[in-house]
Amino acid sequence: MTNHSFFFYGFVLFGVILARYFLIAGGAYLLFYSVLGKSHSIRSLRLKPPMAGSIQRDVELSVLSAVVFAVCAALIISKYGLGVTLFYTDLHKYGLWYLGVSFVAVLILQDTYFYFIHRMFHHPLFFRWMHHGHHRSGEPTPWSSFAFDLPEAIIQALFFVGVIFLVPLHLITLVTVLMTMTVWAVLTHLGFEIFPSSSPRHWLGRWFIGPMHHLIHHRKYTVHYGLYFTFWDNLLGTQHPNYEDEFHL
Ligand SMILES: [Zn+2]
Ligand SMILES: [Zn+2]
Repeated sequence: MTNHSFFFYGFVLFGVILARYFLIAGGAYLLFYSVLGKSHSIRSLRLKPPMAGSIQRDVELSVLSAVVFAVCAALIISKYGLGVTLFYTDLHKYGLWYLGVSFVAVLILQDTYFYFIHRMFHHPLFFRWMHHGHHRSGEPTPWSSFAFDLPEAIIQALFFVGVIFLVPLHLITLVTVLMTMTVWAVLTHLGFEIFPSSSPRHWLGRWFIGPMHHLIHHRKYTVHYGLYFTFWDNLLGTQHPNYEDEFHL
């Protein structure tokens, strides 16, 4: 893994990260906004159709985010090459069960990290230059899922650079976490509700963030800061008081 230069890894990873964005975000956009949405079989959450200009801005910011994530991924590979991280490639080093445990642990850690940086981004001192780009399109589309201002992209990507020093992670686990992050972000920025309207009151469903939950954040700004789970929003009083009733009637 150390045979190639940092720039080689950065360049290849940029292509992979960008292709992943166009495939998953673009695929979801095509599917929901051209096929399923027009059939009226699925509920749109949007107040008005998305504008081409806002989609273009989201794509531009996402390309920039892909550069940042590629640099951080190249950094992870070169650090792994130096043998200073807890990253490992032998499947049996900690047992197969550990792959699942570490996957869930990283999702919980990332959700916690994101909740607190997201609250910081919304502080008036930081919002304009750190997080305004993500909210610029107003109501999100799948294209918004990776649209971050440069400082936000760096802070989000640094989580992955840091976590490989804290938690032993296999390549499979890391890739699965990144795919989960991508699919989940596209889902929460979908603009269509695909879960049953009872899910915010369901004993398990209420702990997961879906399209409606995150859309409320894009509309109101002062609630719903979580990434995957509603745990921190519930615990720290940033869950919209009427979320369970008003928004799913
Ligand atoms: Zn968002
Ligand atoms: Zn926000």
